[in-house]
Amino acid sequence: MKDHPARRLLLVHAHPDDESINNGATMARYAAEGAHVTLVTCTLGEEGEVIPPDLAHLAADRDGTLGAHRAGELAAAMKALGVTDHRFLGGAGRYRDSGMMGTEQNHRPGAFWDADVDEAAGLLAEVIRSVRPQVLVTYDPDGGYGHPDHIQAHRVAMRAAELAGDTAYGAVPGEAHTVAKIYWNRVPRTVAEAAFARLRETAPDAFGGVAEVGDVPGVVDDGRITTEIDGTAHAGAKTVAMRAHATQIAVDGPFFALSNDLGQPVFTTEYYELVRGPSGGGPGAREHDLFAGLPDVAAAPGART
Ligand SMILES: [Zn+2]
Repeated sequence: MKDHPARRLLLVHAHPDDESINNGATMARYAAEGAHVTLVTCTLGEEGEVIPPDLAHLAADRDGTLGAHRAGELAAAMKALGVTDHRFLGGAGRYRDSGMMGTEQNHRPGAFWDADVDEAAGLLAEVIRSVRPQVLVTYDPDGGYGHPDHIQAHRVAMRAAELAGDTAYGAVPGEAHTVAKIYWNRVPRTVAEAAFARLRETAPDAFGGVAEVGDVPGVVDDGRITTEIDGTAHAGAKTVAMRAHATQIAVDGPFFALSNDLGQPVFTTEYYELVRGPSGGGPGAREHDLFAGLPDVAAAPGART
């Protein structure tokens, strides 16, 4: 990675669209600042429900071509965010969307939920050793909301960070690399509550209904939030990226809905919980940069000054 920027950020997600919803503003901001942003998506999202009626034929129970279509949506979203390094774990189609918890899709051939964690983590460890990111972003142990692919993405990401840094691990090529900081995607409860109040007040009829705070993945008490990334300047790019996932997301101004047609807020400040590595926030203060507290990249090209 000699020619790559000094600051390198890796995000691990379950399906195309998760990255834009959770981290779109963060990804756009760091890409614009010259950091190297790598997205690894673990499945093609083959089991997603399709919103536009004219594309309903793509669904798994009809043509079964949604995965390839969603890869195209993801490419368009990455273009909107300015991210050029996006990959599927083990290559497109290596792991299949496992569907919602408790469905027969959980155990279809290739289902990510059934993947051997060490094997999948090895594929990701190879990416880590190659890209050598200082920062990794993924989900919490519940995957944010209990979807099997999100839970598995968490397990694989955390295990991959371990394997990549283990000098004795030789199953994949590359020199050992320790990821300095690991974050889980979060939303502070008070921010979610305020955003839903605004939605109910200003756009109650934008969609078929309004979702609940509990429907938002990763909501926790504010005290657990260590880091907030103000992506307001990149709100437009995030919205364009979300719209690119047209089979999965309907956007209306600062709100959006998934296939359940329940309105949710688009967050343009994105929140994180630092679970490994040094905090650059100072005592009791939130960080405003995922690379904060890493002295060797603080003054590097592409770093914020
Ligand atoms: Zn997902």
